[in-house]
Amino acid sequence: MEDKSYNPFANAQAQFDRVAAIIGLNEATCDLLRQPLREHHVLIPVRMDDGTTKVFKGFRVMHNDARGPAKGGIRFHPQETADTVRALAMWMTWKCAVVDIPLGGGKGGVICDPHNLSETEQERLCRGWIRQLAKEMGPCIDVPAPDVMTNGKHMLWMLDEFETIHGGKYPGFITGKPIEMGGSLGRTEATGFGTIYVLREALKDLGIKPENTSLSIQGFGNVAQYAARMFTKLGGKVVAVSCWDNGEKTSYTYRKKDGLAMDTLAGITDTFGCINKEKAVAAGCEVLPGDAWIEQDVDILMPAALENQITPANVNRISRQVKILLEGANGPTTPDADDTIKERGIFLLPDFLANAGGVTCSYFEQVQSNSNYYWEKEEVLEKLDTKMTSAYRAVRELAQRKNLYMRDAAYVIAINRVAQAVRMRGWV
Ligand code: GLU
Repeated sequence: MEDKSYNPFANAQAQFDRVAAIIGLNEATCDLLRQPLREHHVLIPVRMDDGTTKVFKGFRVMHNDARGPAKGGIRFHPQETADTVRALAMWMTWKCAVVDIPLGGGKGGVICDPHNLSETEQERLCRGWIRQLAKEMGPCIDVPAPDVMTNGKHMLWMLDEFETIHGGKYPGFITGKPIEMGGSLGRTEATGFGTIYVLREALKDLGIKPENTSLSIQGFGNVAQYAARMFTKLGGKVVAVSCWDNGEKTSYTYRKKDGLAMDTLAGITDTFGCINKEKAVAAGCEVLPGDAWIEQDVDILMPAALENQITPANVNRISRQVKILLEGANGPTTPDADDTIKERGIFLLPDFLANAGGVTCSYFEQVQSNSNYYWEKEEVLEKLDTKMTSAYRAVRELAQRKNLYMRDAAYVIAINRVAQAVRMRGWV
């Protein structure tokens, strides 16, 4: 049995309920927004390379589409659950609303470990997931994107299957496509860069110079890698990075007190964000236990891996030096640990604001794909920065004016926008 306090959907609902009470949402709106509008559970038979067939379980949850077609990634993870996907779909609704893009929230998942699947098996799995869901999704209904352990290659197989089934070209059906095949420049970098645009604004508000700051990160996938690069560009020092070691089935933290070199580290990392331990040692990194990332004496902590990573069991190990918690992952902090973060006065950049750069750039990709006209990278990143900065400014302004925790302020803005959309549509 999953411990309810660490069930991400219970976490997402608890966050929602608290803010719904602050806003005074009526009962029908609460009932409508605290659970998904619809969800699909599917079985995907996949012919394996050895000729046997394996059956995988997959999900697509649409939390809400009052503001526009549902939007959100699809994850491949061995521990995926329906409740995790429900929570992530709900967070997507708030994410799109807080950055004010005309999209709703959805999420997908398949219970699998792509480390153990060949390329062709992964391709069949992607196509199988689409075959089961092709009638329920589409550019005007629900638009997938990459997430944990999925990337542009997977998106293109999914697009190809969707187009084959529907008999036409629908490049706006999916985002995070490879650049040569209708992707947007800047999309790969967008989530990570976006977290640092928001961090840059927070540092300004707190009167801290980026070049005097240090960062410890959990995770070294797409979000963490580009965040680390942009943070280094601002002048900050990445001191520690923790990640999964698939060979040893455990995680490690790699540390260099005078700063990790991002190019070196990225060069010894696989496509799923696992750093090669021997090569890291050869590059002069100290190797610490996987959970050591949380207790580093740094100014900024960035969980950028999975949900439920900061819990009552480890929140008190956060160093007194830490001033900012930058949530790159979705749902990394449990509600009880969140209370401690709040009490300690650590400045929070909440997940669905901080990591909204990915979906914001996905929106730009949709616009480009649908109009079949593509923008320069500078233009994409400039538009991304503008969106992220103004979303941060609005949340910060409300938090100060109403004396709210940053997470609650972000929720107030997002929930109000979605509640207004369901009201205007006459749903409640
Ligand atoms: N998977 C990303 C997220 O959690 C991006 C979703 C998208 O681009 O639709 O925000």
